[in-house]
Amino acid sequence: MDCIFCRIAEKQAPAEIVYEDEATMAFMDINPVSPGHLLIVPKRHARTIYDIDEAEAAAVMRTAVRVARAIKAALGPDGLNLHQSNERAAGQAVFHLHLHLIPRWAGRPWTAPGQARAGDPMAIRETAARIRASLQA
Ligand code: 5GP
Ligand code: ZN
Repeated sequence: MDCIFCRIAEKQAPAEIVYEDEATMAFMDINPVSPGHLLIVPKRHARTIYDIDEAEAAAVMRTAVRVARAIKAALGPDGLNLHQSNERAAGQAVFHLHLHLIPRWAGRPWTAPGQARAGDPMAIRETAARIRASLQA
């Protein structure tokens, strides 16, 4: 099975990683729908919410809480969405469970993940550095 998010979790493919622990990893989305858009994955492959081990799902949410607070401190968004899609009919495009964290600014409309174009790698790298610094503060 060739899974891009398994390869990122194993550090066999590049990503702007902002956080990792034993069970989870958070890295920037390459097609961000807003500045700071990132993904949280379990390191162990699970296709959807139907497949994931409950303890690993809880670990994903614990990471989401930590990283959301770091995004708030680093970027100061007006709001933040969690978004998670299961199966193609729901918009899932990468079949390794992932939770989107999407910072929001008032007056800037919502765009569903998957609709965005490739982000500027330099801008993504800079935003990742700010979130990383906030996580370490
Ligand atoms: P889904 O629609 O499956 O919830 O969203 C998949 C997300 O993964 C999309 O927002 C897409 O931009 C992102 N994505 C797809 N391939 C890669 C990749 O190779 N690296 C990173 N960092 N993000 C990816
Ligand atoms: Zn995988």
